[in-house]
Amino acid sequence: MKMSQNVLEVEHLKTYFPILGGLFQRTIGHVRAVDDISLTIQKGETLGLVGESGCGKSTLGRSIIRLVEPSSGKVLLNGTNLLTTNGQELRNKRKDVQMIFQDPYESLNSRHTIGSILAEPFVIHNLLSPKERDDAVVELLRRVGLPENARLKYPHEFSGGQRQRIGIARAIALRPNLVICDEPISALDVSIQAQIMNLLIDIQNEMGMAYLFIAHDLAAVRHISDRIAVMYLGVIVEEGPSESISSNPQHPYTQALLSAVPVADPQFKKRERIVLKGDVPSPSNPPSGCRFHTRCPYVQDRCRVESPELKSRNEKIANSKVACHFPLK
Ligand code: SF4
Repeated sequence: MKMSQNVLEVEHLKTYFPILGGLFQRTIGHVRAVDDISLTIQKGETLGLVGESGCGKSTLGRSIIRLVEPSSGKVLLNGTNLLTTNGQELRNKRKDVQMIFQDPYESLNSRHTIGSILAEPFVIHNLLSPKERDDAVVELLRRVGLPENARLKYPHEFSGGQRQRIGIARAIALRPNLVICDEPISALDVSIQAQIMNLLIDIQNEMGMAYLFIAHDLAAVRHISDRIAVMYLGVIVEEGPSESISSNPQHPYTQALLSAVPVADPQFKKRERIVLKGDVPSPSNPPSGCRFHTRCPYVQDRCRVESPELKSRNEKIANSKVACHFPLK
């Protein structure tokens, strides 16, 4: 039997948040933050997940690791469904999937030294002796480019970029199979962003874990990803190899995101800026048919009534899928 190379398989995942209203605070609707998403990530692969703020990409990342509870679907990590796993088995499985947050300061306990923050994963999982934990912390600091004495300091004594290095060190401590990187560079100075990206790439080359790299900036995602999935209003509208998404977008929304990338980036073709009309509709009441139809420059009557399936629509672009009745050529 051929073994699956997928470290992560997400199947029909939905995460809805109730909207309460009325005198008795009853549920009167739902915010459909993640609305029937399926995706896979192979061992050692990076899937970039891109979309405007509020499209549901961070909720998807948090649903996978169960920081928010999904409403339905499956999240298979190395074949085990995390959504039906609880207790000790879930804690064991969580070693294999870790998260890097946008704001490392919020995710680092300000009252603990860096040494105790980095030793915590070993303590929680009862791994290594105290001496071995100390050695592992020093090695983690070295790996992310921080000096050994950083372990004696507190989070507030570091810059934003250094704190993100600490967040990365904590995420890789247990050598997970998958790291969910939730906008890990968007809060950093531009001058620091490339250093953190390169550190993530080096660590992946060395340790071989897979990344789900979440960002609103398509240029950043392109730099690190093997494949890219584009999200709009809780659904994936296009997915494919980074190269084809960057040079041959098939969905009008992807085209609009690409047009916002500065042309100074040599990896992108020179293109006209497409300014989308209107605001992103509410995920509690998404438009009928194609969810993008209220902002699409190419909308036709069919788009308003029939929801386009995410599927392969152009044989010349290998391994690509798009949810559009009239994809761009
Ligand atoms: Fe635009 Fe229609 Fe395609 Fe939706 S289905 S992206 S509205 S052309």
